[in-house]
Amino acid sequence: MSVTAPKKLSLKERYRILTRGLDWTTTYQEPAKVFPHAEFEGIKIRDWDGFVDPFRLTMDSYWKYQAEKERKLYAVLDSFQQNNGQTAITDGRYVNVLKIFLTAITPGEYQAHRGFAMLGRQVPNVGLRIAAQMQSLDELRHAQTQIHSCSHYNKYFDGLHSFSYQHDRVWYLSVVKSFFDDARTSGPFEFLIAIGFSFEYVLTNLLFVPFMSGAAYNGDLSTVTFGFSAQSDESRHMTLGLEAIKFVLEQHEDNAAIVQKWIDKWFWRGYRILAILAMMMDYMLPKRIMPWKDAWEIYFNEAGGALFADLARYGIKMPSTADVANKEAFRLSTETMLTFYQMGHASGFHSWLPSEDELKWLADAYGPEWERLYLPRFKYFRELEAKGEHYYNPSLPQLCQVCQIPMFFTEPDDPTKICFRDTVYNGDRYHFCSDGCQHIFENEPEKYVQAWLPVHQVMQGNCGGATIDDVRKYWAVEDGEDNYDYVGSPDETMWKGWQADRLKVGS
Ligand code: FE
Ligand code: ZN
Repeated sequence: MSVTAPKKLSLKERYRILTRGLDWTTTYQEPAKVFPHAEFEGIKIRDWDGFVDPFRLTMDSYWKYQAEKERKLYAVLDSFQQNNGQTAITDGRYVNVLKIFLTAITPGEYQAHRGFAMLGRQVPNVGLRIAAQMQSLDELRHAQTQIHSCSHYNKYFDGLHSFSYQHDRVWYLSVVKSFFDDARTSGPFEFLIAIGFSFEYVLTNLLFVPFMSGAAYNGDLSTVTFGFSAQSDESRHMTLGLEAIKFVLEQHEDNAAIVQKWIDKWFWRGYRILAILAMMMDYMLPKRIMPWKDAWEIYFNEAGGALFADLARYGIKMPSTADVANKEAFRLSTETMLTFYQMGHASGFHSWLPSEDELKWLADAYGPEWERLYLPRFKYFRELEAKGEHYYNPSLPQLCQVCQIPMFFTEPDDPTKICFRDTVYNGDRYHFCSDGCQHIFENEPEKYVQAWLPVHQVMQGNCGGATIDDVRKYWAVEDGEDNYDYVGSPDETMWKGWQADRLKVGS
């Protein structure tokens, strides 16, 4: 009698069994009760088996790859910390980019983690469930590694101490929070199109590539390494987003109209969030990579243009508001920056005026119209500062009911006039920053009338009290440390001290 060792399954066979062989059709409960969210959005799926799994990873190989990446990342983070890497960045101002990233983007990663966990529970196809599970774990890992990458800076710099608490409260962070809340409370297909396709596939390069290059240019090895570690996950996420949209479009011709509405909505919502990124690129990186307008051209108009040309065969068109984004490209970063500059007393990070060299760089990048509109404002603010009268805006702005951004964007065709739309619904008037946001509201008013708008909440006394001091306490913004101009801040004093020490050692 001979004993034969059990045959080892190939990776391919293991994957097939994991995603096909272990599934069954439920009989104790009808499938519609097991997957109650699969149909209410109106998406028609003829054949769930038609989903093509983009990466075919088994769980054990997934853990193996991810563990390897973690080991490398934490080795670099250790050496960054042991070598006091924070002293080798280009300028202390740079850390304010990390403050925005940690408070706005990192909790978004966590929200994406929860969203993909929900998606994984709700789709009647194991391949898609496994892919959603992996992305859910990836997003949790991104949140954790970003927190670890930034935690070293938190030992030295202000403004990084309360990121998760602030995410649920501070006025500009509600922009990102409401974006992910909106996505997570939609159905599984809308979530897939919102995050998997519109955000990951169409817009994520605008978030990651310039941000990670910005970190590299400015000597932030810690964040660069996180970026590399996330990059292979990102390419998996983009592939999933693209496969998912193609699958949905191929299943039934009625799906295209629903998908188009979601693309229009989520393009606009995602694009509105990128305003803060445009400000970071053009005003906050001590060493610039490229102007926002060029990044928009490369990553949206060129890459996105090719993508939408490819999707045209399903009847899918470029988002209807893309032309507004193009018209805003030369002024988006400046309109955003000028707002934060005036709201420095109410922000958890520092702002500052650009230097003469930086103004020249901006004028070269953005041309005569930009100079005509904005140079006089910068000159005016500089004169006030010289007199010791830095301008801080004492009023509270009107917020857009959908994107929750203060009303500072201008008319697509008139950059001297604030863009303002309003709609009456059930006897109440709601306000919007753009046609894009107004249309989103009018499609689902019952969803957006529930929005938690920070300014309204302050006015109603729900944010700690009636004074700015009360509200700053409620926001965990440490007055005199986290806020106001970079010039004169404790961060600046510390940074200058480090530079002086360096000179002493060198002499
Ligand atoms: Fe992520
Ligand atoms: Zn808006």
